[in-house]
Amino acid sequence: MFCRYCGLDSSYKNGFVKGKQRYKCKNCGKTFQEKDGRTKESTLAKQALAIALYTMCRASYNFLAKKIFKCSPTTIMNWIKKGAKTAKIPKISDDIKEIEFDEMWHFLERKENQKWIFKAVDRVKKKTVAWVTGKHDVATFKKLYDQVKHLKKCKYYTDGWSGLAKVLPKRHHVIGKELVTTIEQNNSKTRHYLGRMIRRTKIVSKMNEMPNASMKLLFSLSFD
Ligand SMILES: [Zn+2]
Repeated sequence: MFCRYCGLDSSYKNGFVKGKQRYKCKNCGKTFQEKDGRTKESTLAKQALAIALYTMCRASYNFLAKKIFKCSPTTIMNWIKKGAKTAKIPKISDDIKEIEFDEMWHFLERKENQKWIFKAVDRVKKKTVAWVTGKHDVATFKKLYDQVKHLKKCKYYTDGWSGLAKVLPKRHHVIGKELVTTIEQNNSKTRHYLGRMIRRTKIVSKMNEMPNASMKLLFSLSFD
């Protein structure tokens, strides 16, 4: 049952009130009775605002929790996760002619947790087409290529990491550092918005799923 107050699906049955089932929320601790199962409108509005501020304005969990919404940082994190789960990703258009691939390092506290973001950017429209997060290896990049390999006439531009050449078809692959300026600009925008990518933060650094959630939200909300 979704909590009426924080909107998260973390409640359990907690006795009855006047014959009606009562629930208690593990996240915010509030109790509520089963009504129509809907989250309060005001809670949905708060969630949407938290997601927008987090994604587009680099607001941290702590800032949102303490200064804006007066709740726990965990509630904010759960709102973001829920938002990422339901965020809609635009379909990859069939008429893309040129794609640049590149990888960005995502900083995490422990070395063995290092996460990378591989991105594919439409070179003509200068828009992100797809991305993956994972280790800096061929298997991760292949997951990205698999998303665009149906584009039979597309040319691929990369800056020369040898792993990319192992995956991309030779005939369509052009290598040169000077050829991937579109994606470098795109990466710097991503870094700007996702401030968390270049900062250590207590919660995020321990959560491997958050870089992916953040990317998904940014992708679904931004025009780049
Ligand atoms: Zn709750």
